[in-house]
Amino acid sequence: MQIAVLALQGAFIEHEHMLNRLGVSAIELRQKSDLEKPFDGLIIPGGESTVQGKLLRELDLFDGLKARLESGLPVFGTCAGLILLAKSIKNDERTHLATMDIVALRNAYGRQLGSFYDECEFEWIGKIPMTFIRAPYIDSVSDNVKILAECRGNIVAARQGNQLVTSFHPELGDDLSVHQYFVNMVRDTIQ
Ligand code: GLN
Repeated sequence: MQIAVLALQGAFIEHEHMLNRLGVSAIELRQKSDLEKPFDGLIIPGGESTVQGKLLRELDLFDGLKARLESGLPVFGTCAGLILLAKSIKNDERTHLATMDIVALRNAYGRQLGSFYDECEFEWIGKIPMTFIRAPYIDSVSDNVKILAECRGNIVAARQGNQLVTSFHPELGDDLSVHQYFVNMVRDTIQ
């Protein structure tokens, strides 16, 4: 199994380390030719969704990646990655890959509480550490989307088919459980 990490901007190296700790090899997606390499899943990291969205278009990665997601490639978007996957962004007119039936709210916690740590329940896993950095949350989901975690009254993780999103950063810290969950999702599609 090989998992690609979108490596244009943001916290991509941390995801590669998590995958490696789980014994999964990671490749970096940096340019269009990287799409020809074999990979079974994709992680879109946190960072700035506007910057990543712009680079996806400028580097001509956008259409190829969107097509792969639409044909069922498992994807895990964290924070900015969640925003890139949302079909609707409540406080931004521009959407990006827009493959998941969720409404995201960018910078949802305001300036004062922009970044914080908490521990909340994640479906099937239990209570896990959650680090939020100028995070979005999910304002609403369609019926076909399963809510996996809520924290402080807001939806912070969800899944729709092969698409997984968290508004927090499971790649920061030691807890491998959400990455393990995604690796299991990927494994299920290649068996
Ligand atoms: N605020 C960022 C955005 O809107 C997301 C922050 C993050 O990924 N940590 O893209």
